[in-house]
Amino acid sequence: SKNIQRNHFQVFDPSISDRFKQALTMETDLRKALKERQFELHYQPQKEMNSGRVVGMEALLRWKHPKIGYIPPDTFIPLAERSGLIMEIGEWVLREACMQNKRWQEQGFSPVVVGVNMSVKQFYQKNLVAQVAQILQETGLEAKYLELEITETIAMAHEEFILETLRGLRNIGVQVSIDDFGTGYSSLKYLSIFPLTKLKIDRIFLDGKQKQNLAIVKSIIHLSHSLQMKVIAEGVETEEQVTFLKQQDCDEIQGYFFSKPLPVDQVTHLLCELQ
Ligand code: C2E
Ligand code: CA
Ligand code: CA
Ligand code: CA
Repeated sequence: SKNIQRNHFQVFDPSISDRFKQALTMETDLRKALKERQFELHYQPQKEMNSGRVVGMEALLRWKHPKIGYIPPDTFIPLAERSGLIMEIGEWVLREACMQNKRWQEQGFSPVVVGVNMSVKQFYQKNLVAQVAQILQETGLEAKYLELEITETIAMAHEEFILETLRGLRNIGVQVSIDDFGTGYSSLKYLSIFPLTKLKIDRIFLDGKQKQNLAIVKSIIHLSHSLQMKVIAEGVETEEQVTFLKQQDCDEIQGYFFSKPLPVDQVTHLLCELQ
């Protein structure tokens, strides 16, 4: 019976309580991170296919943890969503990205559009449009140089509310793209209802070994253009992918083939070299 007890203990106690403790510690750390400015934005350039010019930058959040080092967003954003901290983090990301984009313009670089990822919860804030407008005013960035990236998950409910928010954003001149297009809950209906400016083809469709993927990529590009939207391919890593996307008339590319996401100083350096 001692054995059973010990097993019992081993099965339940350590794993669950450890995970719980870990989550709690992480949440406390996240709050601290916000206060102590441990967040950083890295930027990944987006290249226009025809001109070869950098026309956009996607802002990607990094947490520079004092003990652990860089923590990738996939590990802490779900937690930030659950705890509601994503509202504050998201607002910080928006302001920081707009500020940086304005700074590049002031430094004399050709204007680019900065892409900011929106979590579902953040998008459902009642005052999102007002918040975005306020940040644009504060930072002096023209609305057309800001693009909000939303995912298809957003469209799962509250159609009226989403439509109203999207119209509000378009009214002030902000661009809105669908991220990871094709991987989520996609209803083609939404593409015709929602005022969107761009589709981002998810990188899973760029795997050329899967022959059907070529047809899917072709179709998404065609669909975007038919609906007067631009289209960008994400996760472009090889020359073959670039060639194929060019043939298919894809507007923009983003991926390791051209550049990884980089800290501000490095991406600024890259802009200098390209001038
Ligand atoms: P995402 O928006 O789909 O961002 C693209 C991810 O693919 C980034 O990962 C980027 O580093 C990676 N990537 C770019 N090019 C390539 C490539 O050629 N090959 C491969 N294998 N990967 C590539 P990252 O930075 O780790 O971000 C992961 C996710 O975290 C993002 O996916 C986005 O959903 C989320 N995220 C990042 N920053 C924010 C943020 O500020 N707010 C919110 N809500 N989510 C964010
Ligand atoms: Ca994105
Ligand atoms: Ca994506
Ligand atoms: Ca993603």
